[in-house]
Amino acid sequence: MSDDLPYVLVTGSTRGIGAAIVEALAGRAHVMGHGSADADLSDPEGAERLWDAAIARFGRVDVLINNAGVFEPIAVEAPLDDWHAGWGRTMQINLQASADLCRRAILHWRERGVGGRIVNIASRAAYRGDSPAHWHYAASKAGMVGMTKSIARGFAREGILAFAVCPGFTMTGMAEDYLASRGGDMLLADIPLGRVADPAEVASAAAYLALEAPPSMTGAVIDINGASFVR
Ligand code: NAD
Repeated sequence: MSDDLPYVLVTGSTRGIGAAIVEALAGRAHVMGHGSADADLSDPEGAERLWDAAIARFGRVDVLINNAGVFEPIAVEAPLDDWHAGWGRTMQINLQASADLCRRAILHWRERGVGGRIVNIASRAAYRGDSPAHWHYAASKAGMVGMTKSIARGFAREGILAFAVCPGFTMTGMAEDYLASRGGDMLLADIPLGRVADPAEVASAAAYLALEAPPSMTGAVIDINGASFVR
């Protein structure tokens, strides 16, 4: 592959939306994928290790795509220790690790005197909220959107662009398991398009933002939810 192609780090690319993003970038970028076996982002040092590994392998990163995330319930009735552990884990993986990678990316681009792009995979939950057992998930994704906009506004003059994607329900894994974990057939009734999104649809938006979107779009948040939440 030509060395003119950008070097892209995609977190959480072993399956689902992340795997679809790697596929969408094929032939258009040098891609370094990642899964929890490579660097566990629930570990406060995990993002640092992942960034160092990407630089050791490629020498540079031009685009960072923060996709890794967890959607784990914690009930309001849970004991305080479990509640804190649930919130802490979701915030660490979904938000803090993404922030740590954004930080390293910005420092890296500054040091090289070049610009770069960040694409954060957030969620419709950032704007709409989520189930009674997923406040922490919605809060982590709202945090990601706020972080993306802050980076876009704060670093645009240095050529550093930041975008977010907010998918609604996106069919990853087995359909039955997926639907069951998200409330069954009822969820379809709430989607005017009549179906959940395909990972390839989310991936095409992420690839566009990573490689093609005009710089003036920096700070933009793209919704992909079949009009289930229109803002
Ligand atoms: P998935 O569960 O299929 O894949 C998640 C990826 O994140 C995997 O590659 C996994 O290895 C990685 N990951 C999870 N925990 C990790 C950890 N501790 N350390 C390192 N990596 C870890 O998820 P998906 O459905 O493809 O979702 C991808 C992103 O899209 C997530 O951020 C998710 O919140 C977001 N999203 C998904 C949906 C949906 O309905 N699928 C909707 C909105 C937003």
